[in-house]
Amino acid sequence: MLKEAGTWFKEGLYDYWQQSFLITKTVFQSSGDLQDIAVFETPWFGRVLTLDGVIQLTTGDEFVYHEMLAHVPLYAHGKAESVCIVGGGDGGMLREVLKHPSVKRAVLVEIDAQVVEFCRTHLPMVSNGAFDDPRTEIVIADGIHYMRTTPERFDLIVIDSTDPSGPGEVLFTESFYKDCAQALKPGGIVVNQNGVPFLQGQEIPDTYSRRKPYFTDVGFYVAAVPTYVGGFMALGWASLDASYRRLSRDVIAARYSAAPVATRYYTPDLHGASFCLPAYVQALIPY
Ligand code: SAM
Repeated sequence: MLKEAGTWFKEGLYDYWQQSFLITKTVFQSSGDLQDIAVFETPWFGRVLTLDGVIQLTTGDEFVYHEMLAHVPLYAHGKAESVCIVGGGDGGMLREVLKHPSVKRAVLVEIDAQVVEFCRTHLPMVSNGAFDDPRTEIVIADGIHYMRTTPERFDLIVIDSTDPSGPGEVLFTESFYKDCAQALKPGGIVVNQNGVPFLQGQEIPDTYSRRKPYFTDVGFYVAAVPTYVGGFMALGWASLDASYRRLSRDVIAARYSAAPVATRYYTPDLHGASFCLPAYVQALIPY
């Protein structure tokens, strides 16, 4: 049903708790083959994108999520040239990844062509031209199929997915993580959105145990994204090089100074601090 200006959008992510946004204008609403898509304007958070009734991003706070999933692994790696983004049809992750001059190629693998099309039209400020960057290739495909069959090898894979239900569910499976490990170059890194541990705590042990067999180093870091309510959001980390998470603040700061990017959340100091987990999150890691 079309949401009218002056009514409230109520997110249906949890059975027992909701956040609501006052709608000032409905920009776009459609029932797609894969997912229901809506974009509306709100007084404080700006434009809000929802898929199947779940908030994907707001133009007010998307910078937190996109910066932390892009810049932490890119500065930790130090010389990543090839990046694969799985999901991310809004183009925000692409925008942040392409800020790094070391990145020569970025492949965006999105299952839903309609998300890319309508985000280009109705949320152009999110991709900010990244879809048209000559380093970008857009592949419309299921990420699980792409990762199983691609002959390409990447320095970084960013899984910028929906939650583990609907089309995004396969991107949280052990076989997908195994294929990601095989699609990495030596020393490669995989990061992903891993839910809000206070409310979606089972995602931490699930991800950890499904990745552990295939990577040298598996862990998590955190970021505070206002619209992913419930405290810190966990970001999953898996790499083929165990040294990255232990790099000193000076090493990260030197890399940042040599190739700075404009940010509103990420800083070299925050980089290392984001790997310090609250005790209730650490306790969810099984071993
Ligand atoms: N970037 C965002 C943010 O700020 O939180 C939100 C995530 S992005 C919109 C999630 C994307 O993952 C959606 O566009 C969805 O279509 C895509 N997706 C879900 N399952 C997928 C799959 N199996 N393969 C590729 N893309 C998938």
